Amino acid sequence: MTSPDSLAGQVRSIGFACTGCGRCCGQTEEDSGLVMVSCAEIRAIMAATGLPWEEIAEPYPATVDDGKGSVFALGWCLRQEKDACRFFSGGRCRIYTSRPWICRTYPFMLDGDTLVVSACEGRGSPIDERAAQGIASDLLCRRSAEEQEAYGVQAVLLRNRVPAGPGIVVDSEGVKVYHG
Ligand code: SF4
Repeated sequence: MTSPDSLAGQVRSIGFACTGCGRCCGQTEEDSGLVMVSCAEIRAIMAATGLPWEEIAEPYPATVDDGKGSVFALGWCLRQEKDACRFFSGGRCRIYTSRPWICRTYPFMLDGDTLVVSACEGRGSPIDERAAQGIASDLLCRRSAEEQEAYGVQAVLLRNRVPAGPGIVVDSEGVKVYHG
């Protein structure tokens, strides 16, 4: 299991400083810029913005075919408008304090215990110990939140039969129909 200190050390040795370019908030190629969001994250954004669920999130585009007539999405991503996150405006994030874990930790992510770094022009810039510790802590919180959402989805799939029909999404809260 990766310790926070070891992770922070890896982040420091890679280096990172956000340049504010906003590319991680936009779609630079097909399927890039998709930000997966959990139910808890969507509800936090709803509380911060007053927007309804379907104005914040849309079904994740990849679907699962259960072989019994049902095709459904396994979760949500932030809505996109004009090839960018709908909350990216005027060169900045309009929900910065409520932004999802993926945004908080970009360009880093954990694949198991392995630190993975996405393409980013801020990669390689000097980073101080405090900032590296903050990213490490966020990465571990993100992993835990993602595991919790995945367990929730598994539990819903075990308890429910997913109906056939358009716009079906299975998330940790249940089986839903998207009308966006
Ligand atoms: S929520 Fe904010 S940081 Fe995340 S993709 Fe949207 S605009 Fe960018």
